[in-house]
Amino acid sequence: MNDCAVIGGGAVGLSIAYELSRHGLNPLVIERGQCGQEASWAGGGILPAAVFREQDTAYEKLAGLSADLHRQWAEDLKSETGIDNGYHRCGEIFFKHHEIDGDPLSRGLLRVQDRGVRVELLDDSTLSELEPNIALEQGEQDDLPIYYTPDSAQIRNPRHLQALKIACEQRGVQVIEHAEVDAFEVEGERVATVHTTAGSFSAEHFCLAAGAWTTQLTQQLGCAMPVKPIRGQMALLQTEEQLLQTVVHQGGHYLIPRLDGRVLVGSTLEDVGFEKKTTLFAIEQLLQFAQTRVPRLRDAAVESCWAGFRPASPDGYPFIDAVPGFANAWVAAGHYRWGLFLSPGTAVLMRQLIQREDTVLPYDDFRIGRIAESIVQ
Ligand SMILES: Cc1cc2nc3c(=O)[nH]c(=O)nc-3n(C[C@H](O)[C@H](O)[C@H](O)COP(=O)(O)OP(=O)(O)OC[C@H]3O[C@@H](n4cnc5c(N)ncnc54)[C@H](O)[C@@H]3O)c2cc1C
Repeated sequence: MNDCAVIGGGAVGLSIAYELSRHGLNPLVIERGQCGQEASWAGGGILPAAVFREQDTAYEKLAGLSADLHRQWAEDLKSETGIDNGYHRCGEIFFKHHEIDGDPLSRGLLRVQDRGVRVELLDDSTLSELEPNIALEQGEQDDLPIYYTPDSAQIRNPRHLQALKIACEQRGVQVIEHAEVDAFEVEGERVATVHTTAGSFSAEHFCLAAGAWTTQLTQQLGCAMPVKPIRGQMALLQTEEQLLQTVVHQGGHYLIPRLDGRVLVGSTLEDVGFEKKTTLFAIEQLLQFAQTRVPRLRDAAVESCWAGFRPASPDGYPFIDAVPGFANAWVAAGHYRWGLFLSPGTAVLMRQLIQREDTVLPYDDFRIGRIAESIVQ
């Protein structure tokens, strides 16, 4: 019998399966469609600068742990699969930084220096040395400071997901695609079996990592844990020469330069349910932002546009916990804007919970019951 059936083959689910298999367990991944095609594909792959320090909050520790693990996993995945996930330190620039609703990391960024993260203030001349193609609008110098965090990194998330899936399979993890979990068979305080559109599977443990769809699964186990989709739209530009090196943020908008001349332009935060479409209004706004900030992007080709669903919890913190009332059912979901970034740390924490080890960080902030005891039916 498999040690753990992980439901959902996104960044969170595949990272958990990878981490479990690295520690000698034999998990199984059950994915409704193809692995890594939902939020984890749609995302930008920004990995903010973070360090792990004892005095920090659990969320900051999860960020610090994940930042370290990304460095390590990028190397491991490359040597195991030959796939380069594009991890590199690119830095981030923040214009007129302000807090983004419901995003704990953007709250933290306001005191990023206190968290031991390297941060520099840029004036117009240091900015143009760093990124000569960025244009400052009239009077914008007065709105300084512009922050620069040189240790932020990025990954090409589709490649990262592909590498994770292959690394899992090479380690003997069964990855079952086109199998939608639609029911659980429960025996006392244990889940015994999951029923899917492609058969039934039993395991010692079950880990629900179905992104924005996780609530639909926990509800079947009597737990109305609140995770909802927040749509984000993206546009991908192709330029003939590299116009930027650094990720550039302004409010909720950002530019992510890839090393091959592509530039991702993101994004929106839309509470519109599971309606996966791109809209004229949003894409126009993104393209306007891109060409105002970097005028030379006006000549870029628009390669494609897409939308994805961030799995959002009410306070922006993920749920990493046991499903209340169950000894062998777990949940890892609700990572909102930072699920790619936080996925390796989440995987380590989840493995430690499943193996009943001491955890590397306190996880009270990630418990389901923190939102309201009353939601647990
Ligand atoms: C536009 C945009 C930009 C983003 N940028 C970044 C960024 O720069 N950095 C960052 O860290 N994060 C970013 N994010 C957030 C990040 O993408 C998500 O937090 C993360 O991908 C969530 O991963 P997940 O595995 O929980 O969910 P998903 O990737 O959505 O995976 C869940 C999987 O579960 C499967 N599933 C659902 N229901 C079932 C079922 N019943 N049975 C079987 N399988 C099921 C789905 O098919 C899916 O494959 C961004 C997101 C968006 C939309």
